[in-house]
Amino acid sequence: MDTILVVNAGSSSVKFQIFSVEGEGKLRRLIKGQMDGIGSRPRLRASGADNDALADRVYPIEAVPDLPAAMGIAGGWLRDELRISPVAVGHRVVHGGPDFDRPVLIDHGVVARLERFVALAPLHQPHNLAPIRSLLANFPALPQVACFDTAFHRTHDAVADYYAIPHQLHAEGVRRYGFHGLSYEYVAKTLPQVAPEIAKGRVIVAHLGSGASMCALKGGRSTESTMGFTALDGLPMGTRPGQIDPGVVLYLISEKGMSASKAQNFLYRDCGLKGLSGISNDMRELETSEDPKAKLAVEYFVYRIGLNAGMLAAALQGLDAFVFTAGIGENSVRIRARIAEQLRWLGVTLDEAENSRHARLISRSDSRIPVYVIPTDEELMIAQHTLSLLVNRPSSNVRHVRVS
Ligand code: ADP
Repeated sequence: MDTILVVNAGSSSVKFQIFSVEGEGKLRRLIKGQMDGIGSRPRLRASGADNDALADRVYPIEAVPDLPAAMGIAGGWLRDELRISPVAVGHRVVHGGPDFDRPVLIDHGVVARLERFVALAPLHQPHNLAPIRSLLANFPALPQVACFDTAFHRTHDAVADYYAIPHQLHAEGVRRYGFHGLSYEYVAKTLPQVAPEIAKGRVIVAHLGSGASMCALKGGRSTESTMGFTALDGLPMGTRPGQIDPGVVLYLISEKGMSASKAQNFLYRDCGLKGLSGISNDMRELETSEDPKAKLAVEYFVYRIGLNAGMLAAALQGLDAFVFTAGIGENSVRIRARIAEQLRWLGVTLDEAENSRHARLISRSDSRIPVYVIPTDEELMIAQHTLSLLVNRPSSNVRHVRVS
């Protein structure tokens, strides 16, 4: 059985999934797992296709000091105990910089180019690259593919790609990239099966998870995003502020004496729903809290989504549908209802019953703008890209699958 390993590495955890390659290029998810607590309380957990537990193990801190060690243990477990040796590995890489507008087969040259983008995503890119480097060193013949969060947005026109700053900075890479691209790509690929006519039109997709952004799709292509140079911009998130006057950052530095790295930590970890509520970054907790600060945080989240939807509708010059996805978008009946209220002026009327039962179409039949919930699947997207690049390699030995 041919299998593909999908890796999503962060600062203290590595998430992985195994897909089997079936006939006609179809993929079936076999295993989901993660090693978290790297460098603190390492723990390997994994479950099978039916959510059945396959592993739950803790390790001494010295055994898993860093990401390559975590990959080594997870890989060893897959290989030695489950007898799984993947034919290829697909990695989520946050930044593809200005050049990569699609996934790419990894070699040493690609790694060197991706290292140049560490400065553009210092909290994510080094962690994404660490397992790539260690697999390249230990299994040089194993094909690896990098799939970027930025690539799907490289279709933006110049007006959506530039900041109003001197050109030299744009040439250096200071651009409005946009992120969550693998999620938007998955939604854009799924939409034609859900609503074929609408998929050809103007759609706003709201990816509302612990990171949150929105994307304007025209005919399935990204034309605008609420995120920009980094994943800090746009909507308020669990711990990031979203759009903020750069003057606030200057104030933090000049008046509060923050160093650049302190300000960075503050903006990535202490703001957003967590900072505003002073309680939690988890929407579930805020939704049930009676604390006025929690209520304000939720109200701010909903309000900013409404404002940004107006902006994206202007970018699209109209709107044919609105789509919710990711943790909050897929699961919170109340937040979806409140956002729909904000979008009423655009022609949105929610069907309460359909919203409550998490239907795929949650707007009323007389709503001018249909509203959908499409659960995202970034890992499947990565596995599909990996398989596609693997099959199309000149030296491919995966011959019995065809991927369109
Ligand atoms: P990530 O960006 O980490 O992949 P997810 O898309 O998994 O995030 O979303 C995680 C977030 O979704 C959680 O922080 C939580 O706030 C939110 N969430 C999950 N389930 C619910 C729910 N039933 N109601 C409200 N919020 C939820």
